[in-house]
Amino acid sequence: MIAKVVVDVPAKAVDRPFDYLIPSDLEDVIEIGQRVKVPFGPRLVMGYVVGFAVKSEFKKLKAIETILDMDASLTTELIDLGKMMKKTTISPLVSIYQSMLPTALKVKYTKTVVVLKPHKLTESLRLIMKNRSEVPYDELPKSALSSVKKLMNEGVIDLQQDLHLRERKKTVDYLTFIKDTKQSLGKKQRMVLEYLKQNGETTKKEVLNYTKAPNSTILSLVKKGFIKIESKEIYRHLTHIYKPSNKKVTLTNKQKDVEDRIITKLGMRETILLHGVTGSGKTELYLNIIERVVNDGKEAILLVPEISLTPMMASRFKGRFNDNVALLHSGLSMQEKYDEWRKVKRKEVQVVVGARSAIFAPFENLGVIIIDEEHTDSYKQDTPPTYHARDVAFMRADTYQIPVILGSATPSVESYYHAAKGEYMLLNLTERANDTTLPKVHIEDMRLEFEAGNRTIFSQKLRELINDRLQKKEKIMLLLNRRGHSTFVMCRSCGEVIMCPNCDISLTYHEDSSSLKCHYCGHQEKSPSLCPNCQSSYIRYMGLGTEQAEEIVKREYPNAYVIRMDRDTTTRKNAHEQLLYDFEQKGDILIGTQMIAKGLDFRRVTLVGVLAADMSLKLPDYKATEKTFQLLTQVAGRAGRHDLLGEVVIQTYNPNHYAIKAAKNHDYKTFYNTEMRIRTLAGYAPVVNLIQIITADKDVKFTLKTASKIVYDLKRLLPSDTIILGPVLPKVARIKSMYRAQIIIKDKHHRLFEEELYYVFQKYQDIISIAIDRHPDLL
Ligand code: ADP
Ligand code: ZN
Ligand code: ZN
Repeated sequence: MIAKVVVDVPAKAVDRPFDYLIPSDLEDVIEIGQRVKVPFGPRLVMGYVVGFAVKSEFKKLKAIETILDMDASLTTELIDLGKMMKKTTISPLVSIYQSMLPTALKVKYTKTVVVLKPHKLTESLRLIMKNRSEVPYDELPKSALSSVKKLMNEGVIDLQQDLHLRERKKTVDYLTFIKDTKQSLGKKQRMVLEYLKQNGETTKKEVLNYTKAPNSTILSLVKKGFIKIESKEIYRHLTHIYKPSNKKVTLTNKQKDVEDRIITKLGMRETILLHGVTGSGKTELYLNIIERVVNDGKEAILLVPEISLTPMMASRFKGRFNDNVALLHSGLSMQEKYDEWRKVKRKEVQVVVGARSAIFAPFENLGVIIIDEEHTDSYKQDTPPTYHARDVAFMRADTYQIPVILGSATPSVESYYHAAKGEYMLLNLTERANDTTLPKVHIEDMRLEFEAGNRTIFSQKLRELINDRLQKKEKIMLLLNRRGHSTFVMCRSCGEVIMCPNCDISLTYHEDSSSLKCHYCGHQEKSPSLCPNCQSSYIRYMGLGTEQAEEIVKREYPNAYVIRMDRDTTTRKNAHEQLLYDFEQKGDILIGTQMIAKGLDFRRVTLVGVLAADMSLKLPDYKATEKTFQLLTQVAGRAGRHDLLGEVVIQTYNPNHYAIKAAKNHDYKTFYNTEMRIRTLAGYAPVVNLIQIITADKDVKFTLKTASKIVYDLKRLLPSDTIILGPVLPKVARIKSMYRAQIIIKDKHHRLFEEELYYVFQKYQDIISIAIDRHPDLL
């Protein structure tokens, strides 16, 4: 027998299956989708078995060296899916297969065969095991593999992998009150004791913050036995806090109607766009639909944006589905992710909730795919293969003939366009479920504030409302969509702006580390005290970032408990959850980037302030307006979700911009109509099919010259009514020292040009870095 194997070698000539002989020892072990080790040139490389054949047109075939896993890692459906994705994403097949699997499978690890039921071992294995309960996998002769596989399926032995990554667990010290005392204590000791008595279990950090007591105070109270100190692992602690909740709600008539209409589509290939305002009960419907699918014996995937798979969301799914759900989110370690993935692979669960890559969950009997917050950018992978999870969902849904449900309060213009044309079924939920009204939105014109002599970052209105909420002990969220302290550094004497040495972008000042950082490539340098150009000392930090905003807020409201959430404060594992937890428990003001806009649901948040709505409007991206509208609507939706009424203040220099006005009125339709008029005029997606090709090279001339050749080829290959623009150097022409040239293809007939683009990719990929993007933002 012959196996067709896609090998892990990044060169254009090898992007096709190769034929290998299957050694007789492996004949009943090898499956489609399995990872194998094969000789390729002088080396042994990893590959995926993608098919079998009886004969090969080639003579002198090499044989498969060995198998890397006992079972197939990829299902036959995923193997086929990869072949389809290769055409749409124009990337090497092996890279697509790699992105379908959990990272743990791709790192080097040692495998161990563990005996579970020694009395059931076969004679030959008994000889190999020699009374040991574990042996390294590598010691097994090839001839033993087939019986190992059989015994594994029978539960006699197990194959375990040790990732060698003893991940350091993040722990936090917690203090608890034990008993009071009549004994006279020092003032600080008394304060700490009283604090713990009133507040119950509290982190040591918080106690020290509030009481300003030194660490020694804590230690002596512990020694005397009045309080106790315990280190807890944060993750365990958090899952503990958000107990699985399974409150069953009675659906409103509107919700019921929408649910019924979705149910009629189960078992059919339909795309449903569920446009429901924030808090309208979309998640409740997802839970019900998935429950139905599960009861039918089928499986479900729910995609959520990476950062919104909060413990809150997780607890709702755990509450409904208990152990029948696997959660794949970034808070998990590599080993934990692998364990969750394996639950799916072994059919131990029927539901997966996870971020982008969960779309590849190796289910084989799917009943529904749901994409929550479908407009979110993070569903598209930026690095090759640049797939969009939505497109992948459609392909899998085609295979299983099942519905895809796209949910959002602010659907992407693209999805709404398809719904408007009748290609998707559009369902609306226009009211919040729990009788709360949508928050009142105030637009504050910062030009008028400036004229009136207000030089602060707060408008009169926002300041007034912040004071009001702090007084009422209600919570406030402030959005500023730029991290760092100051967004650029300029010399007032000569006008020099300090730029990244590798990218065409200014550096951002971060006070935490008193350094300048590039947000594109990660370059970091010490902040200068003298201008590198004219040596003057008039270095000025301009532009507001979250770090500075936090400082200002803390200074102005010294008694408020302020928490900042952005990429800089959430790099540590679980930091994100911890900050949210702190905010819920005792925070007054949460200040953050768009990270805080999604999925959060806090009872007492009654005020949302957007400090500078214009920041994202100005980006050189044809979707900038859409993204601004979405961001404003999403963040506004955080206010007043429960019994308390919410208010929103949007500060802007463009109070008449249609995106800002539409956000104020919670008016998606008007926004959509205006936006579509502009895109039709400008010839942008979704009116035309937009494809971007970027070439990149250290040599600017070479990248432009090669791009010109590509344009020449495309003009020859594509129909004459297709528009081909470029090559041009984009605004940020250089990233990580690579110059980029941009080519844009616009086709009003929405043709995919799979063959033509693949041809171009094949022809040029070995001489230049080339990336083809079907969902470009045009930066
Ligand atoms: P969305 O996903 O659209 O933001 P959710 O499903 O999270 O909305 O619903 C918002 C809140 O309202 C949740 O706490 C949810 O449990 C509650 N809720 C939804 N529908 C109902 C209902 N019919 N009756 C009572 N509470 C409801
Ligand atoms: Zn200068
Ligand atoms: Zn850089």
